[in-house]
Amino acid sequence: MRIYFDNKAMTAKTPEGIEEFSQKLVEAYTRLEIRNQKLQESMDLSHAVTHTAHDAIISVNEKGIVTRWNKGATVIFGYTENEIIDKPLVNLIPEKYQQHYLDGLEQVNTTGRNKYIGSVLEMDGLHKDGREIPLEISIATWFQKGNRYYAAVMRDITARKKSEIGNERVQQSRVAISSLLKIALEPISLKDQLEKALDVILSVPWLSIQSKGSIFLLDEKTDELVLTAHRGLAPHLLTACARLPMGYCLCGRAAQERKLIFSAHLDHRHDVTFEGIKPHGHYCVPVMINDKLLGVVNSYIPDGHERDPEETEFLQAMANTMAGLIERKQIEQKLEHIAHHDPLTGLPNRLLFMEHLTKQVARSRREKTFLAVLFIDLDKFKKVNDTMGHDVGDMLLIAASSRIKACLRDSDVIARLGGDEFTISLPFISNMEDAGLVAKKIISELQKPFYFAIHECNIGSSIGISVLPVDGNSPDELLKKADIAMYEVKNHGRNDYRFYEQGMEEVKK
Ligand code: GH3
Ligand code: MG
Repeated sequence: MRIYFDNKAMTAKTPEGIEEFSQKLVEAYTRLEIRNQKLQESMDLSHAVTHTAHDAIISVNEKGIVTRWNKGATVIFGYTENEIIDKPLVNLIPEKYQQHYLDGLEQVNTTGRNKYIGSVLEMDGLHKDGREIPLEISIATWFQKGNRYYAAVMRDITARKKSEIGNERVQQSRVAISSLLKIALEPISLKDQLEKALDVILSVPWLSIQSKGSIFLLDEKTDELVLTAHRGLAPHLLTACARLPMGYCLCGRAAQERKLIFSAHLDHRHDVTFEGIKPHGHYCVPVMINDKLLGVVNSYIPDGHERDPEETEFLQAMANTMAGLIERKQIEQKLEHIAHHDPLTGLPNRLLFMEHLTKQVARSRREKTFLAVLFIDLDKFKKVNDTMGHDVGDMLLIAASSRIKACLRDSDVIARLGGDEFTISLPFISNMEDAGLVAKKIISELQKPFYFAIHECNIGSSIGISVLPVDGNSPDELLKKADIAMYEVKNHGRNDYRFYEQGMEEVKK
């Protein structure tokens, strides 16, 4: 600090001049005192702030050598002041950022400018134990006695980053669950829904699962898991895992134990294996609704991946949501089946028969092939009911439907219209006589005795036949004419078949 005096007063040798000089000297000294005091206060404050701050406050010279280090820096980086002073700051920077840092230092030293000076940046620091710590960093630079110095204030933002990641996970999980709920409402088959659901699970960004997995559904009749949807599975697994018994391999175990099975490696529980199988682990999650097992969701994880409670919880939530989807679809399928099938014999009912017949008629007309419709009514069936009881009658209807089915090809459709009436469509027959041969075979099979416990039942069957394009071109017309022809058989002694002929209607009237 400099003190400027009035030259005139200084040179005055008069008592007034001396007095004025003394007074100015006192004033200058007082100003100096005040300034020193302020400086001390400022240094004390700076020292107090630096050493009580939770943030790291670090100074380096232009060579990047640490010149100052506070307690906050020790907490964040693990080095004591003695260990780090006079050492290069680059030791605190992960290798991936080191070149960038050195280039930046060089740039400021030569140009005095750098985009990071005066702004706040996020970067990882390197702890003494090798751990990377997410940091928020502000950098300042100044000159002291002609030398450039830098100061960085670094804040450990691990907690904030964790909460950001947590929020991101929550958001991604919500999107995944809502996608599953949307898929549940799509008018597509259960298999298609499960394939889409699997895609949703496998593409959740925060999960460490690989992009392959499968969904099994429980076959209640055989108590096996049936591979229903899959993505990225090795070809061998498509056959080896097509049906899995309870308790077999990881998925079978998840199903049997009704709990999530985790494996970090291919361990002894991984029963299905093949040559060249790549190391991996699994999360196998049972899909349950009210303690009832519906299936298993199987996802692949990298070999050695540690079980993550958040992943476990999320995959369980996805399986629960999927349980709702599967149950809804299975109820829908059951209702659909009831609406289209005869409950006694399990055969298609009139509704489904007409749907099939409509498609077959259209195709036969397009391809100009014959199609026959057979109308069957059992002979003297009432007598079975009356003499042996309704239950025996029911058993006879079931057994008769099996015998008829055994006379047909896969492409033929058989339905029970009601009572003791059955209809059959025979598409793509090469000539009309083929329909007669099928009718003959059915009559012969149905006139053989049926045995139910102590009961022997003997019935016959009357069959009317109509043929496209000879007798009609529409499903209704064909069915009606086959019925008329059947009636004609009934009128002529039963247990026989007849093709529709014009004029038969008159007899029925
Ligand atoms: P027809 O030789 O003239 O054909 O006479 P039918 O004795 O076979 O008797 P019809 O075909 O006229 O009637 C069928 C009977 O089948 C009427 C009804 O009592 C009986 N029936 C209808 N539905 C069922 C059923 O679900 N179970 C049983 N057991 N009987 C049924
Ligand atoms: Mg009958």
